[in-house]
Amino acid sequence: MARHEFSRETRREALKRSRNRCEASGLRYGLDEGQRCNCSLSVGVIFDHDVPDQLGGNNSLENCRAICITCNKFKTRGDIRQIRKSDRQRDKASGVIKAAGKLRSPSFPKSSKAERRQSKPPLPARPLYRQQEEQP
Ligand SMILES: [Zn+2]
Repeated sequence: MARHEFSRETRREALKRSRNRCEASGLRYGLDEGQRCNCSLSVGVIFDHDVPDQLGGNNSLENCRAICITCNKFKTRGDIRQIRKSDRQRDKASGVIKAAGKLRSPSFPKSSKAERRQSKPPLPARPLYRQQEEQP
C-alpha cells in the first residue's frame, strides 16, 4: 500500500474521467505502447499512482489512474523492481552499501589483556591436522 492515498475527491474525478473503463495503457501494464486496457472497472477499481509515491509522485488527479485489478497487479510488480533499484542507488550514494572487499574491522587500542595474551607461548600445531596434511 502506498503511504499517501488519493483524496476521495481525486478518486471520484479519476473514475469520472475514466468513464468506468480502465485507464491503464502502455508497456508497464503489459499492454502495447499506446494501447489502453479499457476493460470495465465495475468488478473492481484501483487508483494507481502514475508516478509512484516512493519515486516522488504526488496525489494529484493527473498522477491518478483508475485501473483494473489485472493491470494493477502487473504494474505493481514493475514498481517494486523500480523502487528497489532507486533505493539501491540512494544507498550506494550515501555509503550504506560498501563495495565488497573494502570492509575492514576497526582497529582497537591495545589493552593490557591483549598484551598478556601475546606474551604466552604460541600453541603447538594440532597433531591430527599435521598428520593428515603429511599423508601422501
Ligand atoms: Zn486494465
